[in-house]
Amino acid sequence: MKDYLIKALAYDGYVRAYAVQATDTVAQAQERHNTWHTSSAALGRTLIGGLLLGATLKGEDKLTIRIQGNGPAKGIVVDANAKGEVKGYIQNPHLSLSLNEAGKIDVRGVVGTQGMFSVTKDLGLKEPFSGQTPIVSGEIAEDFTYYLAVSEQIPSAVGLSVLINPDDRIKTAGGFMIQIMPGADEETINNIEKQLNTTPRVSTLLDEGLTPEEILKGLLGTKDLNILEKISVQFKCDCSKEKFGEAIVALGAEEIQSMIEEDHGAEAVCSFCNNKYEYSEEDLITLKKATLGGN
Ligand SMILES: [Zn+2]
Repeated sequence: MKDYLIKALAYDGYVRAYAVQATDTVAQAQERHNTWHTSSAALGRTLIGGLLLGATLKGEDKLTIRIQGNGPAKGIVVDANAKGEVKGYIQNPHLSLSLNEAGKIDVRGVVGTQGMFSVTKDLGLKEPFSGQTPIVSGEIAEDFTYYLAVSEQIPSAVGLSVLINPDDRIKTAGGFMIQIMPGADEETINNIEKQLNTTPRVSTLLDEGLTPEEILKGLLGTKDLNILEKISVQFKCDCSKEKFGEAIVALGAEEIQSMIEEDHGAEAVCSFCNNKYEYSEEDLITLKKATLGGN
């Protein structure tokens, strides 16, 4: 089953809900960045959160999430858009901590408990929208929830989970986001809270073979789900040799000349997807000419 995300309404439209299966997406990130298990979980949860937040955007809009904590992960950056495409990296991919006291992957241990959680949205306007809140948990889902409540004033429940095999490969990954609209009654809220407290993690449910639709029904405690949209999701980076070439051009003719003389070439590595691009001396001469053309 390929990765996908569903958007739905429930309780007469007073509850907006999203659920995503992102196993291949997170596996792709794990393989590209060769992350070890605690780093995989931290990056994976942020990628899933990116997909869920991205699903609230429209058209060509996109967003960037930055988690800058005081833990050894140092920083996590994720880009997502409205089309179900996500990419991201963790500054320290090689973290493999022991499980925490609850027997779970110690994501807080790598993220840290202090720092900043920020979201920048490019909505096609002159100025990007930007909001940030302090890290309140380090487990990431709670940090998303806090950000949504404080910065966007949307009371939400967010779950992000990654299940990892002993050999570090991703077994399942997925998450949900439930948002309560103004005017929802007490009974609805209580009902959902009760379900949230008793429902296993999404990665566990996916492992049991449940679909995002079934998971949402369980989480909301209702069969009456109005599915608005189903979109496929994937790890996708838009980098290219041309784009990195433009960045080299921006360094200026002098810098390019020294690359030619000293290194006889250049290599660029995309931090989001780890693709490598090689530039031969000839490539660099062409790029050097482009610096003149731009003036
Ligand atoms: Zn890339």
